[in-house]
Amino acid sequence: AEMFGQLTTGLESAWNKLRGVDVLTKENIAEPMRDIRRALLEADVSLPVVRRFIESVSEKAVGTDVIRGVSPDQQLVKVVNDELVQLMGGEVSDLVFAKSGPTVILLAGLQGVGKTTVCAKLALYLKKMGKSCMLVAADVYRPAAIDQLTILGKKVGVPVYSEGTDAKPSQIAKNGLKEAKSQKKDVNCWKTAGHTLVDKAMMSELKEVKKAVNPTEVLLVVDAMTGQEAAGLVSSFNDEIGITGAILTKLDGDSRGGAALSVKEVSGKPIKFVGQGERMEDLEPFYPDRMAQRILG
Ligand code: GDP
Repeated sequence: AEMFGQLTTGLESAWNKLRGVDVLTKENIAEPMRDIRRALLEADVSLPVVRRFIESVSEKAVGTDVIRGVSPDQQLVKVVNDELVQLMGGEVSDLVFAKSGPTVILLAGLQGVGKTTVCAKLALYLKKMGKSCMLVAADVYRPAAIDQLTILGKKVGVPVYSEGTDAKPSQIAKNGLKEAKSQKKDVNCWKTAGHTLVDKAMMSELKEVKKAVNPTEVLLVVDAMTGQEAAGLVSSFNDEIGITGAILTKLDGDSRGGAALSVKEVSGKPIKFVGQGERMEDLEPFYPDRMAQRILG
């Protein structure tokens, strides 16, 4: 299925209703706006976000001057496009690098969302940027998780530091960073343990690791398939531990788009990267303008 396919089709029915009108008015946009509202809700965008979006688009659509050569339906497309870009944060939000010493990136998130995959993908992305990277397996609960990161690290040609399952996360924290420093790595990327649910144990461990390694970036990995729930998670992790952004995975699946559209508005934190496939190359920065274009089809 085409990503955002349903959302794109839903929005198309809004433009179609404006064929033949001379100018956008409060009256003739009412029904198309209901279509847009419905399409966004069906894409699992959070309700308050949809409300604000609809309000803002309606206001701007009616207020715009008629542009010569641009039909009213295309004018509404333009307003929706611009508003979608704003909703997703406007500009691309680049990774921040430390001024000196290794840049520490802490990856957090629930189990199964794609943290291990993202860790390796990010290492490859950074490697292509000319940065040297070391990964740290700070998940001490599941030996299979450590093995998996080690395998993927080999695949992308980036070393993985681990101490097995007997070590304490706080101990790995100290040693892992020391190791990255001694190897003069530019980036030290941490894969932390993910529980199946948000719980106190995971949060306090994350806080502990965060305190120990003083990360430049704390990125929450969320699964696009969970829609607006992903945005809620970004928000609660931010309240709890303080994060710098999110990475949205599985955007290649039959994602309805709600997560991509809600995260920034709900949490105040930008999506920095999107994962869209199982290959190591399938990670790219999140470009709000390109995403809006994909949504509009
Ligand atoms: P973790 O438990 O958070 O470390 O999750 P994993 O990295 O082990 O990923 C869980 C599953 O999701 C694996 O089968 C991955 O191949 C798959 N996966 C991760 N990212 C993506 C993605 O962007 N697209 C698709 N289709 N699958 C992904």
